[in-house]
Amino acid sequence: LARADFFPARAVVDLDAIRSNVHALRAHAPTAQVMAVVKADAYGHGLVPVARAAVDAGATWLGVAQADEALALRAAGLTPRLLTWLYSPSAPLRELIDADVDVSVAAPWALVAVIAAARAAGRTARIHLKVDTGLGRNGMLPPVYADVLDAALAAQAEGAVAVVGVWSHFAFADEPAHPTVVAQAGVFADAVALADARGAALEVRHLANSAATLTNPAVHYDLVRPGLAMYGLSPVPQLGGPAAFGLLPAMTLEADLATVKEVPAGQGVSYAHAYSTTQTTRLGVVPLGYADGIPRHASGSLPEHPGGPVQVGGRRLAVAGRVCMDQFVVDLGPDAPEQAGARVELFGAGTDGGPTAQDWADAAGTISYEIVTRVGARIPRVYL
Ligand code: PLP
Repeated sequence: LARADFFPARAVVDLDAIRSNVHALRAHAPTAQVMAVVKADAYGHGLVPVARAAVDAGATWLGVAQADEALALRAAGLTPRLLTWLYSPSAPLRELIDADVDVSVAAPWALVAVIAAARAAGRTARIHLKVDTGLGRNGMLPPVYADVLDAALAAQAEGAVAVVGVWSHFAFADEPAHPTVVAQAGVFADAVALADARGAALEVRHLANSAATLTNPAVHYDLVRPGLAMYGLSPVPQLGGPAAFGLLPAMTLEADLATVKEVPAGQGVSYAHAYSTTQTTRLGVVPLGYADGIPRHASGSLPEHPGGPVQVGGRRLAVAGRVCMDQFVVDLGPDAPEQAGARVELFGAGTDGGPTAQDWADAAGTISYEIVTRVGARIPRVYL
């Protein structure tokens, strides 16, 4: 028996939507290649199926944070160019190089480690130098970058590495008019110019995430790195939803009601009775909780402060009371026809007035990235 056949909830992932979104992103950035960012289990959508769909639709690169994600893609037989960018000194660099994975170099120690691993492997490691152009996270500030560039080019002359990329990441891409966007683009242009001046024959210069891919053609360079938009979610919700950018949300999260029961007015609901009924009504128990990634911050504390939205039988309802570890409650109303087993949609394409991942993000005070990436490992993924 497959788990998806009996588990009372599922994340349905529409791979046609992923393919359509990759086509849309290619149209937004017609002169660049597309790196499909599939880290964090493809933002919760499933690493390998999404990577395959993205490659089918013309993504020529795959991008992941962690080394094991890169190795999993290779083990699944995916052969496109592949970059991994977040690792510590314990990283399996030799395995990555043997698996033909490009590695980011974001600190001097990383260059030393990659050179050693490449020599041990007897291969040339392809590296992308990561410049901190202003994010203040992973990456080298320009003076450190300049030194590491020189050291990398010296190692390139010996065949240990090939400096194929220079790259960076924005702090405020989701606010396209923010002054740091222009400032970071300027620092990046200088870093690229320095590499050119030192004779590096760069293959790919890359800076744009989803928001910059959709809103800032000046920073597309040779390669764009969209994540969120490929999943059909808007990286700039204040500027428009997915449809405004030609994107289709790929994931629908749904569950089957575990129980429906009638309760009187004044019934406290779920832990601490944060919600209580105002009339005789029917309560439905949804078998999904914070262990499954349903944010506890989307609890509905009172009838006037509804929690995260759900759609049941064409009606838009909300979480009633606290989200628990494995379940939450919905007040279906006195005349609700639903019985145990009825389908509840938490979020999906949003086309029929149904709730979206962005609605859940708004209810929980977070971003849609967090809603989809936290859909728990125990929820079966079903692919359309
Ligand atoms: N590039 C890097 C370095 C990232 O860390 C991420 C994700 O956070 C992305 C690209 C994709 O970002 P987005 O999902 O906003 O397109």
